Amino acid sequence: MVDHDLIGTVVAVQANFYQVCLENNSTQFLLCTRRTRLKKIGQKVMVGDRVIVEEPDWQDSRGAIAQVLPRTTELERPPVANADIILLVFAVEEPALDPWQLSRFLVKAESTTLELCLCLNKCDLITVEQRQQWQGRLKQWGYDASYVSVIQQQGINRLWERLQGKITVVAGPSGVGKSSLIRTLIPTIDLRVGKVSGKLQRGRHTTRHVELFELPGGGLLADSPGFNQPDLDCLPRDLARYFPEARIRLQKATCQFSNCLHKDEPNCVVRGDWERYEYYLDFLDKAIALQEILQKQPDR
Ligand code: GDP
Ligand code: ZN
Repeated sequence: MVDHDLIGTVVAVQANFYQVCLENNSTQFLLCTRRTRLKKIGQKVMVGDRVIVEEPDWQDSRGAIAQVLPRTTELERPPVANADIILLVFAVEEPALDPWQLSRFLVKAESTTLELCLCLNKCDLITVEQRQQWQGRLKQWGYDASYVSVIQQQGINRLWERLQGKITVVAGPSGVGKSSLIRTLIPTIDLRVGKVSGKLQRGRHTTRHVELFELPGGGLLADSPGFNQPDLDCLPRDLARYFPEARIRLQKATCQFSNCLHKDEPNCVVRGDWERYEYYLDFLDKAIALQEILQKQPDR
């Protein structure tokens, strides 16, 4: 990397074109191709990648990606590089908060190295007492959530502060208010959508591609279609690590068997009367079943 290198972040990918937002000048976008050399070595370019751009054509806003800088993180679904935070959004009502479904998303988020930010929306639909009940219950699970109401604009500022300067991927089931929240955090998003997607010749609602949008004040937010029903594709032996309740137990003591799946083995320290233990068992069965299917596929 030399001083005069042009560095930017890939904010959208479509076919063989990459929309790159230049560093130190976030209003400047270049529509880039990928150098043949990168194709030859099989170097993929993902949304979120920091790249070095060569031969900028300022008149036509074009350029070529010469190098992809090392990634700090890499998500598969949605495909985003260098994301810092998973913003997991659920509603407390409409649709009613389903602890099993929430746990499924939590486990998925825990299986990444990203920081988790749990946001419970539509708090205007419940009483303070009901909210405190959720708070207490989630605390038992090992989580602190942000309680917000997008409609009443409550809790939004604090959330926004937490996302400053970070790359955030939004996840959660449909209907919980993800789009409403994104529109609140980025009021100009519809204008921005026109600016980027227009150049890529497609509207963002016609495809399932990921795109990064700038947060006012700094940071990027992925409006991601591919993260609303996560698979439990982790290894069965890793699953316990994705439950804070089990993690704590394993920090304090060890099971008799080092390969304990915490199901019916003797002298297991994880098995116990914690609320989500039944989810753990359920997810474990699913992870084992999925693993068996994958092992039968010869090319995996
Ligand atoms: P998405 O599918 O997760 O993107 O959810 P949307 O943003 O499309 O919102 C789904 C519905 O929930 C819409 O009718 C919103 O108006 C409504 N909604 C969003 N935020 C709130 C909120 O804070 N309180 C209430 N009561 N409704 C909300
Ligand atoms: Zn055990």
